[in-house]
Amino acid sequence: MSFLNGKVAIITGGSRGIGRGIVKLFVEHGANVAFTYSSSSKAAIELENELSSNIPKVKSYQSNAADFKAAENLTSSVIEDFGKIDILINNAGITKDNLLMRMSEEDFDKVIEVNLKSVFNMTKAVQRFMLKQRYGSIINMSSVVGVKGNAGQANYAASKAGVIGFSKSVALELGSRNIRCNVIAPGFIETEMTSELDEEIVAKWRSAIPLKRGGSPIDVANACVFLASDLSSYITGQTLHVDGGMLT
Ligand code: NAP
Repeated sequence: MSFLNGKVAIITGGSRGIGRGIVKLFVEHGANVAFTYSSSSKAAIELENELSSNIPKVKSYQSNAADFKAAENLTSSVIEDFGKIDILINNAGITKDNLLMRMSEEDFDKVIEVNLKSVFNMTKAVQRFMLKQRYGSIINMSSVVGVKGNAGQANYAASKAGVIGFSKSVALELGSRNIRCNVIAPGFIETEMTSELDEEIVAKWRSAIPLKRGGSPIDVANACVFLASDLSSYITGQTLHVDGGMLT
């Protein structure tokens, strides 16, 4: 079934990992997709080419989500290219892990800028178009770490907890205009990046998860389809945990 027929979605950080999985599934569900990346032009163009034989339109844009002006420019380009924006998925994110004792000011600021300020930048840029059409679904990517905290990730946890507070506030502000804003909090999702980790460590992580496996990008993408589509038209301000039961 196609739950996103004719919708236009912006997905930040679509060149790799979870974002790439969301782009692919959204196209399968009939959405037209504008996705961004920071520097992996090759991967982005390959994905764009792979999907361009599909009927919905797919286009990649190099755009730094942490830059306020760049977010405004991106949104204008997407409106020019696609005509409207129905869905925004703020997925782009980075880590710069270290114990607080060793964490530099630069690494704290960078993670907040890319993971949290980007959500402000993109939501602000897109909201005026959603307000006009009185329709929109915004999905922000947090993390189990934003809910629970994690040693060595104070910057990342702060950014991801900030995403939840921001999203609840946006849900309250924009609900009367039929614009919904929800959060997805993934647990341990296995991507190209995690495939480079020591297998023994990964096996330990898996066995600590109630469902006894790491998640896949498709697990997160399925939750995105639900929250982006009219299947969830009476749901806003919520955090959906896609973590195999890690927080249970
Ligand atoms: P990933 O594989 O490292 O991919 C990150 C994506 O974000 C890439 O497309 C990257 O573009 C893009 N990006 C990075 N900085 C950007 C910037 N300043 N502007 C625009 N795009 C930028 O990450 P992932 O594991 O798929 O994670 C995706 C999201 O889920 C993140 O928000 C992450 O915090 C969250 N999350 C992940 C997990 C997990 O286990 N993987 C768990 C919980 C939450 P380039 O390719 O050009 O660098």
